[in-house]
Amino acid sequence: MKRIAVIGAGIAGLTCAYELSEAGYEVVVFESRAQVGGRMSSRTTNEFIFDLGADHLCNLYEEMKGYCAKFHIEWEPMRFLRYGVFREGEIRSMQDVIGPLSKARLALQQVLTRNVGDFFNLSELANHDSGDAYSFMRRRAGKEVADYLVDAFTSTYQFHRADEISVGALMGVMKSIQRDQKKWDLHRTKGGMQALPNAFAERLDVRLNHHVQEVVTGTHVTVDGELFNGAVLASPATVTKQLYKNPSTEQREILDAARYATTISVALKIDRENLPDTAIVWVPFVESEKISGYVNEAMKGEEVIHDGKSLVCTWLHEGFAKTLMNQPDKDVFSQVKQEFVRVCPWVNDVSEVESFDLERWPEAMPKFYPGSLKRVNTYLDGPGQGAQNVFLCGDYLNSPWTEGALRCGQRVAQQVIEKLPA
Ligand SMILES: Cc1cc2nc3c(=O)[nH]c(=O)nc-3n(C[C@H](O)[C@H](O)[C@H](O)COP(=O)(O)OP(=O)(O)OC[C@H]3O[C@@H](n4cnc5c(N)ncnc54)[C@H](O)[C@@H]3O)c2cc1C
Repeated sequence: MKRIAVIGAGIAGLTCAYELSEAGYEVVVFESRAQVGGRMSSRTTNEFIFDLGADHLCNLYEEMKGYCAKFHIEWEPMRFLRYGVFREGEIRSMQDVIGPLSKARLALQQVLTRNVGDFFNLSELANHDSGDAYSFMRRRAGKEVADYLVDAFTSTYQFHRADEISVGALMGVMKSIQRDQKKWDLHRTKGGMQALPNAFAERLDVRLNHHVQEVVTGTHVTVDGELFNGAVLASPATVTKQLYKNPSTEQREILDAARYATTISVALKIDRENLPDTAIVWVPFVESEKISGYVNEAMKGEEVIHDGKSLVCTWLHEGFAKTLMNQPDKDVFSQVKQEFVRVCPWVNDVSEVESFDLERWPEAMPKFYPGSLKRVNTYLDGPGQGAQNVFLCGDYLNSPWTEGALRCGQRVAQQVIEKLPA
């Protein structure tokens, strides 16, 4: 039986480990934290579930839904779905945030966008990786659309500006929104984001609190002195770069090329009766250089509402997040609350907002910057992936969000099976 080490129990590593173990491999998963899930996990304090990273899922997540059904995890719709965009002191609907001319130009652009490829596998969009999304949309649909929709979308979900994301990624999202409309309706796993990672972990040999220091290849792959036939490195690229001591040229190049946006997820407690049934508010950078968006957790129902209170999760633009990264929690809360009151008309005063919990994410989201889609695609098709029996894995490999990372885990498991038959 072949022994495979998986470094990192995020959703990519766990999925890969599960598929390998089902295929008959002896798999050991190493995880530096005290719990599995990485950027897909939750912390429960006084009965409130705080989803630390990924906050919501949707029906486009077909592979994830499949595992949830298999493990009897309830996949439930959010109680309400309305989106808003903050503009000039108020929250407007997506339709009303731009004027009629911008709307017409956007509609035309949507019609002109061909059926491109799957957003969760950006390698399929590598042919469209020819510039940045902001310039592209500004040219085609004007500044208002670029600022209030494209840049706002990128800031809310990627925490960085749209001039740093490839037009290929934008086209994938735009086409999917148009084609799959209802499938974008938000869902969650009952019990919080932790439910699926926990279900995988129950079926695997996971070593928690083991921060891997060193992976070295020779006749075998050695992980902190322990021998394996192969290894899947499913930690963020910045970490993998440190711990993998002798990568091949292609592996080193792709790790060097990965970039991430930073954010802090800050959970605030607010009276439920002050919160309207609006699920998510995008805050465009032209309106705030600090908060990029916030999520009304009351959409998740009873599990997140207690004693008449609910949580609102705020995410920060990368520049602001970096300035707060090393500050004490109380200072982070104080600065975020001050700005939150300015961009959230649901509250009048800082005294209506309680600090609840926060999580710092130095590597929150990979930047799928112009040129990176092609570069990663070339790497994945070349001799680098699996060189020395080491396989890279994770969302930074053209695999956005939890569903992208999960599918990356599935693909990497397949690559291991082909290269190192059980
Ligand atoms: C604030 C935020 C909001 C988000 N919102 C959404 C959302 O609403 N919907 C959505 O689908 N996606 C969302 N995402 C994106 C999604 O969470 C990620 O794309 C996905 O979870 C990445 O999974 P991964 O397995 O590639 O990486 P990770 O989850 O980062 O997994 C890597 C794992 O490696 C471990 N590790 C690191 N170093 C070592 C070491 N030396 N030894 C052992 N283990 C190590 C880490 O602890 C971690 O568990 C969000 C992300 C953030 C940060």
